[in-house]
Amino acid sequence: MKRKTIFALTASFVLAACSQNPFTGKKTLALVPNSQILPMAFQQYDEFLTENKVITNTADAKMVKNVGQKIATAAERWLNANGYAGYLKDYKWDYNLVQDDAVNAWCMPGGKIVVYTGILPVTKSETGLAVVMGHEVAHALANHGQQRMSAGQFQQIGAVVGSVALGDNAEAQQIFNTAYGVGSQVGVMLPFSRSHETEADKIGLTLMAIAGYNPDEAPELWKRMKAKSGGQAPPEMLSTHPSNDTRIKNLTAWAGDAKAEAKKFGVTKFK
Ligand SMILES: [Zn+2]
Repeated sequence: MKRKTIFALTASFVLAACSQNPFTGKKTLALVPNSQILPMAFQQYDEFLTENKVITNTADAKMVKNVGQKIATAAERWLNANGYAGYLKDYKWDYNLVQDDAVNAWCMPGGKIVVYTGILPVTKSETGLAVVMGHEVAHALANHGQQRMSAGQFQQIGAVVGSVALGDNAEAQQIFNTAYGVGSQVGVMLPFSRSHETEADKIGLTLMAIAGYNPDEAPELWKRMKAKSGGQAPPEMLSTHPSNDTRIKNLTAWAGDAKAEAKKFGVTKFK
């Protein structure tokens, strides 16, 4: 029994490695390498799409793809310009609108994005959608999902990845989806930590600005999200993304920096 515990601790230590987050320069814990996480993410994403109603060929669906592509291009430009060319080489970007009343959106590692139709009345415009997608992509780029898992959960996922496809282990699949915010049930989602939220807000703001969207819209979006939280059922987005006055104040203060960063990429006009 004891030997097993020691082995487990050693295994989790070996799995853990530090990698630098290019957006913040901070060392972050990357417990499972992209080469293992991404195939899992791609598989889970495909499965999610087959189990849910994907909207195609509507103006909204096209808007989701359009904004997603612009955010992805902005991320690639930013990384290339800052000496991180190749950071996204294994990403296979995908942007889908899914029919669901949940006020939610998420991005799995590897650039696999889902936007629920329920969030569109809150995002209101293409720019509002860019706030949400920029923020979600930022969580994925900074590997925040992985950091939500416990060492024990990692071992379980790692063990499954090492042998068979993730789809064969329902429990590991559940942990994975919970860590990445997949789904629309409030009960099964974990909130990001406040520091991860702040990091994603900052990175997301830069991405949207480089993509040509006005970062002044970010605090407005979160004000609308906050206004929606007064009712009996707060939006799913708020259960995983705590909205508060500090965030709105921060975003207002950082909008200028994001515009200045965009200017380095020749972007001076914002939609
Ligand atoms: Zn967030």
